[in-house]
Parts: sequence; structure tokens; C-alpha cells
Amino acid sequence: MRVAFAGLGVMGFPMAGHLARAGHEVTVFNRTPDKAERWAATYGGRVAQTVAEAAQGVEVFLLCVGADDDVRQVVGEALTALPTGAIVVDHTTASAEVARELAAKAADCDVGFLDAPVSGGQAGAENGQLTIMCGGEPATFDKVQPLLAPYTKAIRRMGDVGAGQLTKMVNQICIAGLVQGLAEALHFAKRAGLDPAGVYEAISKGAAQSWQMDNRWATMAEGKYDFGFAVDWMRKDLGLVLEEAARNGARLDATALIDGYYAEVQALGGRRWDTSSLLARLEPPK
Ligand code: NAP
Repeated sequence: MRVAFAGLGVMGFPMAGHLARAGHEVTVFNRTPDKAERWAATYGGRVAQTVAEAAQGVEVFLLCVGADDDVRQVVGEALTALPTGAIVVDHTTASAEVARELAAKAADCDVGFLDAPVSGGQAGAENGQLTIMCGGEPATFDKVQPLLAPYTKAIRRMGDVGAGQLTKMVNQICIAGLVQGLAEALHFAKRAGLDPAGVYEAISKGAAQSWQMDNRWATMAEGKYDFGFAVDWMRKDLGLVLEEAARNGARLDATALIDGYYAEVQALGGRRWDTSSLLARLEPPK
């Protein structure tokens, strides 16, 4: 297929690469041009100087940028150039509201829209093992699903436009609670004089097991946070969650508390630390 990908960050760079390796004709755009040049040198696709130039003549326009206003800016420009019948696939973690707003604008241009946030982190993007949660028309979803396969471990249409972003919010609520639980568990284990590695061996095959425990326990025990999913991004995501909860009436007492804990981690200098750094509030890193 003829496709464009905008936003070659930690996630977008490898995702666009998987599309090129699968044989699609990929044009990329990145706000900071040298990343796009580096991408083209790695994967051999075409670099566009503007979003509109990237959007010209493509069947599918994908993006993975920062937050709501970035999505508005990029999709707004893409819609000035996309041909009738094209589809926009937004992999950014953004609000359900911006998805609905941009889907309506896209429909006015006879362009389809799918909100398609991802889970699986940098490793998932690099290894082509992302979970994708989609919102949009069934026919739009069916058309793009095969295209996304090279970087997909699991994909599901959750409902109308916005349902993908709402599902990603559920994902982030789970993660916040899990990581705070791990932070308190490790803190307690150390205070109790237990060996953290031994505790992991003992409890990680039982009911306390989780992806976060398997992948973050050891680094948390070492106070190592200079990798992974940044606290700034998590606060952006929890902000979306809490705004949506204020609208739908859900009570998220612990999530709101943990969002405040992440603000404390930011104040400790941890804006780019991995989300497992909730433990740093209790035990400052070495
Ligand atoms: P990142 O490394 O900061 O990359 C963001 C990309 O978006 C960069 O290429 C940036 O361009 C571009 N961008 C931002 N605002 C833009 C704008 N207004 N116009 C044009 N380009 C713009 O971020 P990331 O880690 O890839 O994350 C991207 C999205 O995926 C976020 O919504 C994040 O929450 C979500 N996500 C991330 C992870 C993860 O583990 N990293 C996991 C799941 C979901 P420049 O190069 O010019 O800055």
C-alpha cells in the first residue's frame, strides 16, 4: 500500500520501519528533520518536508505524536492533502474527544479515521509485538488491520471512534495501581530485611504475578529508572483518564492519588524516568 507515517519518535520510528520492511511504499514526516533522514537511511523510504506533502496520494496516513494538540495539528494539515477514501490511523495516546472531533472533520473530507493507541512500549514497537486498541467504523478497521499486522501482537476494534482511547485509559488505570503496589511491596520487603530477588522467586509464580513484576521488579530493586515509559507521558495519560472519569462519573480514588505521587517523582527530577520510579518517592535512587 502507499502509506505515510508522521512522528518518528521512540514508537513511530520502529513502527514505520516495520511497514517499510513489509514492502509498503512508505513516506515519512518528522518535525525534526534529521530523525526522518536517519529513518530513510535505515529503511529506504521517502522523506516529506511537510505533513501535507507526506499525505498526498496515500491510501493510509498513520501518526504517533505526543498529545491532543499535536494530533490536531498533524491531522488538520494531513486533511488538506489526503485523497478521498483515504484513512487516518492515529496511534498517539490522546483523548477520546479529540478522536471524535477529528473523525468528524475527516468525514467532511470523505476520509476515514481510526483511533488506535498502542501498548507494549519501545520493546513492543521494535519487536513488532504491540497491542492495539481501535475505535472506528468496522469497514475502516477491516481495511487497515492487515496493514498493521507487521507490528501487532493483538488488535481489537472496541467500538465507535474514541473507544480505542477509552480502552487505553483502562490499561493505564491498571498500570498505575500495579506499579504503586510493586513500589510498596519492595519497600516493605527491604524494611522487613528480606532479599528482594528471593521474594521475587517466591511470589512471581503465584497470584501476585504481573508483567510489571516480571519486567520491573529487578530494576526497581536496584533503583534504576533511566529507561522505559517516561513519567511525563504517564501523567499526560492519567490526566486524560481523570478528565474522562469526571465526565462519566467513575470513582478513581487510587488513580488520582497515584497521579499525585507521579507529580512528586517529577519534582524529584524524574520527568523522563520510567513509570516504575514510584518507588523513588519512598527510596531516592542511588
Ligand atoms: P517521542 O519519542 O517523544 O516521539 C514523539 C514524536 O512526535 C516525535 O517524532 C515528535 O517530533 C513528534 N511530534 C510531537 N508533537 C508534534 C507536532 N505538534 N507536530 C509534528 N510532530 C510532532 O514519543 P513516543 O514515546 O514515541 O510516544 C508517542 C505517543 O505514543 C505518545 O502519545 C505516547 O503517550 C504514546 N505511547 C508511548 C509509549 C512508549 O513506551 N514510549 C508506549 C505506548 C504509547 P520531534 O522529533 O520533532 O520531537
